[in-house]
Amino acid sequence: ATTQVPFPGQVHPTEGGGVLISKLDEVINWARSNSLWPLVFGTSCCAIEMMSTASAKYDWSRFGFEVARATPRQADVIIIAGTIVNKMAPVLKRLYDQMADPKYVIAMGACATSGGPFFYNTYSVVKGADHVIPVDVYIAGCPPRPEALIHAMLTLQEKIKSGGTREQIKIDKDMNIING
Ligand code: SF4
Repeated sequence: ATTQVPFPGQVHPTEGGGVLISKLDEVINWARSNSLWPLVFGTSCCAIEMMSTASAKYDWSRFGFEVARATPRQADVIIIAGTIVNKMAPVLKRLYDQMADPKYVIAMGACATSGGPFFYNTYSVVKGADHVIPVDVYIAGCPPRPEALIHAMLTLQEKIKSGGTREQIKIDKDMNIING
């Protein structure tokens, strides 16, 4: 069943139609959270579960994620699904830099979160994506099930709607954070 997402605002019915009262920020965040386009970044086994999440059985398009892109220019959320080796780290950083703001990151699985089974005594693996780029939502598991990825997507949507993601932290003219 599709989740009903309430429109942020209040509608007061009148004879001639309706009057919508809302804050522009809330409307933008609502729209943005329901049309996230993922940049697929599958590097190993977790990517199989990510592909499954996009397939007909789990169908992430129900939540507005359906337009998966293979170019950072057209994506606003990157799903890191798999191990990140040192040689891949600069590529991940470049892809992230090429995405337009606001942009979001989901670290899927133990490898993307912390290096996973390669945490100890593996010279070639990055011990978590947040050593390379900032991460908004982490998913535990090796690999996480599609339900866990969907839960992470919904969590990200809630963060965006509440204005709590790092790109929406506002700074004043002296570069002080005023709402973080
Ligand atoms: Fe593979 Fe486990 Fe690492 Fe996912 S967390 S990429 S399943 S080793």
